[in-house]
Amino acid sequence: MSTPYMLLTGASRGIGHATVKLFLEKGWRILTVSRHPFSEECRWPAARESHIQADLEDVDGIEALAEVVRQKLPEGKLAALVNNAGISPKGPGGSRLGILDTDADTWRHILNVNLVSTALLARALSPELFAAKGAIVNVTSIVGSRVHPFAGVAYAASKAALASLTREMAHEFGPYGVRANAIAPGEISTDILSPGTDQLVEALVPMKRLGTTTEVAKTIYFLCSEESSYINGAEIHINGGQHV
Ligand code: NAD
Repeated sequence: MSTPYMLLTGASRGIGHATVKLFLEKGWRILTVSRHPFSEECRWPAARESHIQADLEDVDGIEALAEVVRQKLPEGKLAALVNNAGISPKGPGGSRLGILDTDADTWRHILNVNLVSTALLARALSPELFAAKGAIVNVTSIVGSRVHPFAGVAYAASKAALASLTREMAHEFGPYGVRANAIAPGEISTDILSPGTDQLVEALVPMKRLGTTTEVAKTIYFLCSEESSYINGAEIHINGGQHV
């Protein structure tokens, strides 16, 4: 069997970097996309030539991005698409951006990066995903299903919509042998966390600790592997029980 290819958005650090490392260990070939040219924080032997710089806010540029990806797939097959890139802008002093604080540009920016680009990228790469009978994993969040003290309204709405998009993908791509699932992290130890998270974890997470990026990466890997061959349209919570 030929080596499977995975494309992951938002690879420069955090959950994305941990996922790249795990897939490499499992023998996959990786392609990455992020806003920045190449991240020294996410180093691995072929990182530089496997990286594509693209701003996912520019939704009119997604077709061109997909074309660059296509050129890098020797057999025209994409076994996994992991939509991990996401932004969660804050207000002054790290404050939460509620409805009253969020203008049209902020809505557009967040929805384009967290949601619209995901739909368009999957659409553009659908021939390659169908050819591989591949898997899609969308990274949603616990804030898609409940109000959170730090996450803003547009971020929360984008993640709820991404969960819905995941169901739509599962429905539409299932007949082609492509599975689509989501993972919804809670409080994971990365740069995206706000001050005050420690108290929140103590109060709301039954396991009384943050999750690690490796724990998230393992679930993403599971959803892209044969082990999950009949799981389609699911959203898996990775939050130590915070959702209960
Ligand atoms: P991070 O900020 O460390 O990484 C985000 C990645 O997205 C970076 O690689 C960045 O370059 C990329 N990115 C941002 N804007 C982009 C753009 N316009 N174009 C292309 N790439 C862009 O975040 P993380 O904590 O590793 O989060 C990864 C995913 O997990 C996100 O979707 C986030 O919403 C989600 N998530 C994280 C947590 C957490 O606790 N860290 C919790 C719930 C959900």
